[in-house]
Amino acid sequence: MALPPPAECLAALRARDRAYDGRFVYGVITTGVFCRPSCGARPPREEHLRYFADGEAARAAGFRPCKRCRPEQAAEHERLEATARFIERHADRPLPLAELAAQAGLSPTHFQRRFRARFGVSPRQMQDAVRMRTLKSALRQGAAVTDAIYAAGYGSPSRVYGEAARHLGMTPKAYREGGAGERIVWAVRQTALGSLLMAATDRGVCFAQFGDGIEPLHAQLRAEFPNAELVRSDAEHSPALDAWIAALDAHVSRGMPRPDVPLDLRGTAFQMRVWRFLLGLEEGQVISYGELARALDAPSAQRAVAAACGANRVAVLVPCHRVLRGDGALGGYRWGLARKRALLDDERARRRGA
Ligand SMILES: [Zn+2]
Repeated sequence: MALPPPAECLAALRARDRAYDGRFVYGVITTGVFCRPSCGARPPREEHLRYFADGEAARAAGFRPCKRCRPEQAAEHERLEATARFIERHADRPLPLAELAAQAGLSPTHFQRRFRARFGVSPRQMQDAVRMRTLKSALRQGAAVTDAIYAAGYGSPSRVYGEAARHLGMTPKAYREGGAGERIVWAVRQTALGSLLMAATDRGVCFAQFGDGIEPLHAQLRAEFPNAELVRSDAEHSPALDAWIAALDAHVSRGMPRPDVPLDLRGTAFQMRVWRFLLGLEEGQVISYGELARALDAPSAQRAVAAACGANRVAVLVPCHRVLRGDGALGGYRWGLARKRALLDDERARRRGA
């Protein structure tokens, strides 16, 4: 990127404008140090300033990086973002780690670690996710399965089947048909937190949502599994589902222990990591989005963590209600803050009583 004109650079560093971080650095000839525009150091006199496109240019001119604002760390974030965009564009071909690391200007080990810390997934997992997205959209548009597999960058159909089954929860063919061929049984029950719709495949519970009334809940289930065969079930025909929904009702309505039921979770690699982590939390235990991101070794992925919590389809059983904002405030909840508060209050009360 071209260096902005000096007047613009001067205005940016006087305003300590973060938007300019990564666009240029400034060196101070009296100290021999270079800074990013947002550095908190007192701005020097204009005649002592020199502007550079990046840290490399500043170093070449004999400046050393400021220890306070660490101007090259900002540049590293920029480079990681650029590498992620590169992966997005070239996911259809092999992307050796060494090539990506060289692009980011880091050693492969360091690159792998920094990438994961920033995005919550490895470069390889990101590439897989992009391919999977390409494949899914091609299949949704009705492409032939084999064509879609090659176009998404998979070398062979056999490789995609294992991966697709993990990501899609079904074979590519079944996905193209929007879950066609899958049979999902569902039931509704009134609980202390409102109507509860629970649905299950033969692998386990794939959907549990609270709402106000059957119709909107059923529409949500239909939107998640557009072509699956949805079967409303009575207790007689699906005793397992009936037992699970009764146990979940007993938990939210009468404070019985949270039931341990099989789950059929479907999400991206990162969403699965977030949900699995939540499954390991103790009752009454809460965690902030930031702590959760750090626990997953992805400290800058707070927003992705919050999005994964919001994408949870299985209320209470995957306890995303235990994730709070960093300041202890409730944060968001897909099923409403009143429900989140009620769930947490109950857990706290049980914990005190235990
Ligand atoms: Zn500085």
